[in-house]
Amino acid sequence: MLKQRTLKNSIRATGVGLHTGKKVLMVLRPAPANSGIVFRRTDLDQLVDIPAKAGNVSQTTLGTSLTADGGTVSTVEHLMSALAGLGIDNLVVELSASEVPIMDGSAGPFVFLLQSAGIEEQNAAKRFVRIKNLDEYRILNEDGLRYEDEFVRHKILDAIGDLYLLGHSLIGEFSGFKSGHGLNNRLLRTLVADASAWEEVTFETLQDAPISYLAAAAT
Ligand SMILES: [Zn+2]
Repeated sequence: MLKQRTLKNSIRATGVGLHTGKKVLMVLRPAPANSGIVFRRTDLDQLVDIPAKAGNVSQTTLGTSLTADGGTVSTVEHLMSALAGLGIDNLVVELSASEVPIMDGSAGPFVFLLQSAGIEEQNAAKRFVRIKNLDEYRILNEDGLRYEDEFVRHKILDAIGDLYLLGHSLIGEFSGFKSGHGLNNRLLRTLVADASAWEEVTFETLQDAPISYLAAAAT
């Protein structure tokens, strides 16, 4: 069974928000299976939990912000990208301010933190969102502009983080042309609203799927 993952131990980091300039303490805590990634504001009158879901995206200029229950967290995409890359399904991200620390501007420091805390497999099957109807959701142009390599890499970093707001790892193909946080969120909202375009699967369900899906799941 391909299992869900969380952290072995809690780990903390301090930094500043890129846009607010505010100092923020971030604590990453293990979370139970099937609970997903949840941001938690610890500095408000009461704890406010903000699930990392596409439907909670409230702002997409200068980064992706999430809002729920009157609490907002900004610039979630680089951390989300690191979580997607390491296949972490369940985690509580406590923040003492409204913005995730920017660290060095990449996902590298988050990957280092997560690996330092250790990754733990949980006794529940990992769930994926498999795209069934690829053509309908294409934001793409093969002859698009060529960006500087680092710019392209950063766009990919942002897109991986934004797409992880689906709530599960994605089995499908993504192409972007002049994509940004706003377009990424519109894509997810359109996709989520069309239940015929995707299905939630586990690796076990995929055993019966055509070879191409297995290849996608393995990469
Ligand atoms: Zn970015």
